[in-house]
Amino acid sequence: MNSAKGKGKYKDIVIGGDSGSSSRTKSIHPPIETHWSLPNCEGKRTSSFLIKSLLSYPLMKLRRSKSMQVILEGARDSRDAQVVEDFRKMLFIEGLLPPQQNDYHTLLRFLRMRDFNMAAAKDMFLNYLKWREESRVDMLPKEFKFTEYTEVKKIYPHGFHGVDRDGRPVYIERIGMVDPNKLMQLTTIERFIKHHVSEQEKTLRVRYPACSLASKRHIASTTSILDVNGVGMSNFSKPARYLFMEILKIDSDYYPETLNQIFIINAGSGFRLLWKAVKTFLDVRTAAKIQVFGSNYLSALLEAIDPGNLPTFLGGNCTCSEHGGCLMSDQGPWKYPELLEMIQAISMREGNDDKCENGDTVSEDSLTPKKVDIQNKNEFLTSLALEETTCMLALQKINGLEAAIGDTKNIIKKLEDALQNTKMALEELAQHIEELKM
Ligand SMILES: [Zn+2]
Repeated sequence: MNSAKGKGKYKDIVIGGDSGSSSRTKSIHPPIETHWSLPNCEGKRTSSFLIKSLLSYPLMKLRRSKSMQVILEGARDSRDAQVVEDFRKMLFIEGLLPPQQNDYHTLLRFLRMRDFNMAAAKDMFLNYLKWREESRVDMLPKEFKFTEYTEVKKIYPHGFHGVDRDGRPVYIERIGMVDPNKLMQLTTIERFIKHHVSEQEKTLRVRYPACSLASKRHIASTTSILDVNGVGMSNFSKPARYLFMEILKIDSDYYPETLNQIFIINAGSGFRLLWKAVKTFLDVRTAAKIQVFGSNYLSALLEAIDPGNLPTFLGGNCTCSEHGGCLMSDQGPWKYPELLEMIQAISMREGNDDKCENGDTVSEDSLTPKKVDIQNKNEFLTSLALEETTCMLALQKINGLEAAIGDTKNIIKKLEDALQNTKMALEELAQHIEELKM
């Protein structure tokens, strides 16, 4: 199969469709975080050390270095920023940009997925908005509780576990252990899909920001391991097939560019046969991010993931025995209370943008995030720095909108001028007709 693996090999690779269909070609972009990362990741220290150093970072230094903003937002590529700005204006002028989706990285993901073709990205983005509304995605945290989760996990072990060597969340699924019939007794396809969407939303809202803060670089994609031991045509029943394809479709249509790579491991002859069929349905770029291994996968996994972050059943050192197993623990930076408080503080401030307009003169009261217990001076200072970052982001958004309004005003002015000219020409013509009549 095609492989885009290996450091420094990501330049625009053009791959041809090898599915036997036609000459599908698409360029493979480098990982989404590439040009956003900090120039120096300060080696491989432990996450808890990094968090401590982050929390005790002097406010003035944070302000000057802008490192907090770079961590959360990434250093932007100027060409990308321009295209995103143009895309944003186009959607805004047409009234197609809800404020909650007016986010730089969301827009960039859709543009990248469509090779920066504005019209194609717009179609995809509108399709995404329609789906969000129809599926009530924003209401899921309130309306949907996956109460059967623990039972489902027992027969379908899956979940997030730790981070890869670059700090991305690692998602593991032991799909070969699933008994589709038992699964359908515990839940329904509809509920399982809702659960999947809820997890995707949590990854965007909590896991990526937490991983970014922990690894001090912008994180925006996931590394996945799919253990297909025992999977073949026989146990891939119709409902299982439907569920699998539905989830693939949701991920590629509505959460584009969030996949770093997938390791499919323990693939036997049955799976390889199945894979040939499934692969033809996959987006070429997605297919290029997937590597299929037999039982000889460990060295590839260890190249990407530290053994401490890898469960023993995959050849690593982690057992998460206190949680009843690695796939029950959901362990990772998104579980660290300090990071969750910081993320909560940011999201709370985002709902309070109107207080930020005056930058330096925000009252101390409005700076203290409600519900968040500020335990010491350092945390308070960090939250001050976060305030500032949030204000800057809000101001950037406002500036973008103002620019778009300015452009619209110019267009209206030009139309008015043109109308005025037409009016004058018509008046002249009328006068001319009058003269002719006389
Ligand atoms: Zn573990």
